Amino acid sequence: MVLPLIYDFDRDGMKDLLSTWNQPAFRVNQIWDGLYRNLKSSPSEWSNLPSNLKTLLSERTRFEGLTPVDKLQASDGQTVKVLFTTNDGHPVEAVLMKYDQRRTLCISTQAGCAMGCVFCATGQMGFFRNLTSGEIVEQVLYFARLLNMEHEVLTNIVVMGMGEPFNNYDNTLAAVDRLNDQRGFNLGARRFTISTVGLVPMIQQFAAEKRQVNLAVSLHAANDPLRSSLLPINKKYPLTELIPACREYVEITGRRISFEWALIRDINDRPQDASELTELVRGMNCHINVIPLNPTGAYTGNATAISRAQEFADQLNTARIPCTIRLRRGIDIQAGCGQLAGKYTKMP
Ligand code: SAH
Ligand code: SF4
Repeated sequence: MVLPLIYDFDRDGMKDLLSTWNQPAFRVNQIWDGLYRNLKSSPSEWSNLPSNLKTLLSERTRFEGLTPVDKLQASDGQTVKVLFTTNDGHPVEAVLMKYDQRRTLCISTQAGCAMGCVFCATGQMGFFRNLTSGEIVEQVLYFARLLNMEHEVLTNIVVMGMGEPFNNYDNTLAAVDRLNDQRGFNLGARRFTISTVGLVPMIQQFAAEKRQVNLAVSLHAANDPLRSSLLPINKKYPLTELIPACREYVEITGRRISFEWALIRDINDRPQDASELTELVRGMNCHINVIPLNPTGAYTGNATAISRAQEFADQLNTARIPCTIRLRRGIDIQAGCGQLAGKYTKMP
């Protein structure tokens, strides 16, 4: 039998577990402090717990749901990518990016992805399974411990690694809540950004929950034929449903929404593409993030040259649609979504 992963418990779950072990409820605070403030990685590290409880924790729970199997540091020294495997052998990646004062971690929510976006390395490998909330949290704790050794702290989390977070909604949001908890890790909700391929019902649910967490939507095309050819899920949730859901999100939450746009040479980087995008999002409180495509094995499209990317961004900004070009960080360590795991996974 596989032991429960300690990071899968919320506070109530931990209280219940402790009560089945006849332990007082206040121990939950000491465990929470140890896990999420002091970043302990094994029961032996708690000096303030009785030894019988430490034994119970080590014999009846697991502290490692993910095993790091590869670690790559980009030549700029500012990007670190780790490939983990789950206890049942599936790949999970997370990437730490340092810019200025920011320490941003990109985390995964699924092993693989079922959405099949044609240019995405994760999409190309197919879907293995959802990660549990604890496996999502553990990626963060792993890097928080690394940073802690350098006397640094994590400042931002982007849920943009492997998988579609809104296809694993409950576990993803449970992980965000656990990391947001003021009695524990205490990372502010506004420090999180969740990126979705555009699952309309979940965008609606997310809007209704009125969270402070930032939302990004992977747009990549402003007409249905092109978007469907890149992102198959567009056939189920076309732009006529997606864009109104995004507008509604902005209205309900009062928050700005981001759109992601991977620039693919001669496919979605022409002046007419920028015009179409301008019309699509006109009047919406939004921001466009463009990034030249990161080349992946099974997709023949090319990255847009930086000069063309600049023209694309300029055209949008001139039309008063705020647009920023993102750098391709860590391209030498395959820091694009799913690209490291792809090396270890048989392509279907
Ligand atoms: N599944 C979610 C989040 C993970 S992907 C989503 O699709 O939004 C994170 C972002 O990386 C998405 O915007 C996705 O479209 C983009 N992406 C995937 N493969 C890429 C590639 N090869 N080059 C550039 N961006 C890519
Ligand atoms: Fe999945 Fe996002 Fe990759 Fe599409 S881009 S296959 S939704 S991880």
